[in-house]
Amino acid sequence: MKAVVKTTRGHGVEVIEVEAPKLKDDEVLVQVEAASICGSDLHMYEGMHAYEWVATPVILGHEFAGKVVKVNNPAHAHLINSRVMINPYVPCGECKNCQRGRTNLCDHGQGAMDKVPAKSLQYGFRQNGGMAEYAAIHYQNVLPIPDSMPIEVAGMLEALGIGVRALERSEIQPGDTAVVIGPGPIGLSLIASLSNYRLKKLIVTGLSADEERLQLAKELGATDIVYADQIPDVEAVSKLTNGEGADHVFETSGFHQSLVSGVRMCTKGGELLLVGISAKETVLPSHEIVRGEITVKGVYGVTEQTLRQTISMAASGKFPYQKLISHVLPLEKAVEGFEAGVQKQGVKVILKPLC
Ligand SMILES: [Zn+2]
Ligand SMILES: [Zn+2]
Repeated sequence: MKAVVKTTRGHGVEVIEVEAPKLKDDEVLVQVEAASICGSDLHMYEGMHAYEWVATPVILGHEFAGKVVKVNNPAHAHLINSRVMINPYVPCGECKNCQRGRTNLCDHGQGAMDKVPAKSLQYGFRQNGGMAEYAAIHYQNVLPIPDSMPIEVAGMLEALGIGVRALERSEIQPGDTAVVIGPGPIGLSLIASLSNYRLKKLIVTGLSADEERLQLAKELGATDIVYADQIPDVEAVSKLTNGEGADHVFETSGFHQSLVSGVRMCTKGGELLLVGISAKETVLPSHEIVRGEITVKGVYGVTEQTLRQTISMAASGKFPYQKLISHVLPLEKAVEGFEAGVQKQGVKVILKPLC
């Protein structure tokens, strides 16, 4: 079968013929119909810096959906022909984080103080993923999706889940004001998810060079755009909120100065959710965090609960997720898709092995 493989630790990926997967005990065979390219896939495409924990060679793809076509254990026969999306996390089910439902943080009982991606993050990283014609997946990791959902949307549910996880971690309520820093794929998907929360204001900040993505943010439901290279972003948020500041700031850019701005954009008692990953350590104005009782929270990955919530949000038709799809390419053209992603063209690139 054809697959997108990270064969070496250097630049690039290869679309090559590999052996079709053989099913182990509790695995089912998923015929992949759509897989999307994530920011982490782009990082791995450019080289494996900070991805020492990823095994190579590995078939990439942790955001994907398709149809179950074969099972190994007759007890899972009912899954055959179901349309499913894949949860890339394989938790141990026993550790403290698993017992509290935080399967996105499960380290299989080891390494809880190492803040690297949880050991439960498997498909597309530590085990073969879904940028291929077929994938062998544990039966507990396939989640049913409704027939009515476009397969391209199903293929990016895991990515949409990151924004949904941010909402789960937040105290957001109708009538609040929110800022999303950074109009990248995660920032835009968050805006799409926030568009239905009846917020007083939903402000997006970015650079003039992000013009297309900022205009898309407006289409998705942002009420105001702040061009952070034209006007100090904190000042702009202050003006737009009559000096009140924002109840919730979602930082998705990972740019260190934006983290500082994020604290300052908050109203007293507000919260800053860090979704983007910063390349370097950042000093935050701690006196302001203390005096303003600002809550700073990290947001990472998704749980099964997050994914089920994301499936139901996408199935409701109330969120403009489809507008995030900018490219639909056959698997053979994966490199074209990765290049588009690296050059920040469009938003979500969907690969379709069957087209
Ligand atoms: Zn992802
Ligand atoms: Zn666990």
